[in-house]
Amino acid sequence: MVKRIKMGISSCLLGEKVRYDGQHKLDHYLKNVLGHHVQWVGVCPEVECGLPIPREAMHLIGDSNSPRLVTVRTNIDHTDRMENWINQKLKKLEQYDLSGFVFKSKSPSSGLKNVKIYQDNGIPVKNGMGLFAKAFTEKFPYVPVEEEGRLHDAKLRENFLEQVFVYKRWQDYIADDNTFAGLELFHRRHKYLLITHSEGGFLELDDIVHQGRHMPLSEVQDKYLHKLMYTMSIHTSTTKNASVMHEIMDTFNQMLSHDEKLELVDQIDVYQKGYAPLIVPVVLLQHYVRKYNLSDLSEQYYLFQYPNELCLRNRV
Ligand code: SF4
Repeated sequence: MVKRIKMGISSCLLGEKVRYDGQHKLDHYLKNVLGHHVQWVGVCPEVECGLPIPREAMHLIGDSNSPRLVTVRTNIDHTDRMENWINQKLKKLEQYDLSGFVFKSKSPSSGLKNVKIYQDNGIPVKNGMGLFAKAFTEKFPYVPVEEEGRLHDAKLRENFLEQVFVYKRWQDYIADDNTFAGLELFHRRHKYLLITHSEGGFLELDDIVHQGRHMPLSEVQDKYLHKLMYTMSIHTSTTKNASVMHEIMDTFNQMLSHDEKLELVDQIDVYQKGYAPLIVPVVLLQHYVRKYNLSDLSEQYYLFQYPNELCLRNRV
């Protein structure tokens, strides 16, 4: 099990009354479900940069590449104040070593995508990012990020949390081990998980590890992390999961009785047809891994990675 995961979050999603109108945007799943498994680090750019509660609403205006943050009614420009605070805040956040960040959508400070930027003619284009969200993703390009609304979609949530767990294990590897042997072990234990995202990505990571024996460790780690997080960002699918489960089954097929084989094939098939969630065949695989004492498979994160209480893989 990984150490406790530390993640950033827009403070209003935790129920803090920091919004311009003095209200919050509490997200029950984030606070009360995921919150039992992660340590949230709340950030409210607008309040932390010195603006009051309540305050006049703000929006972004001007050039899409470097928009200004101004109040909607009185047109006061808070961009410099915000940017000064962001520079200080990012240095502090570096010390937290966050494993992910959940941003409040649509906000001119915190929104991650499709934030409105108003043009001179008063018409908005929806291609902006909140000033803080943009600076955060530039400073920490590998930290998984997502908006709260998208996390209500089971598949997107699963994909995001998988990235967070992988990134956290990478942080732990760097902090606790940081050797080439540790990198080989990290890679080996993620084999099947990576293949469910991209077999090509896994093979390229394999090459990086094999060629890495003759390179400085930090260089190999940089290349590996870059490819790792890119591979994890590729969405998995029912077909890819079913194919990986068959591949896993093939590694211990000869140990299974006739009935056990039939049952496992049947459960993978039922999942592939959409009649059962992924957790069903995965639990059966876990059962055989324990029953036949399959030590190589027992270290695979694809089979053993989440706290059960998160109920992941129950809806995908
Ligand atoms: S969206 Fe961001 S800036 Fe706005 S209240 Fe929430 S945390 Fe603060």
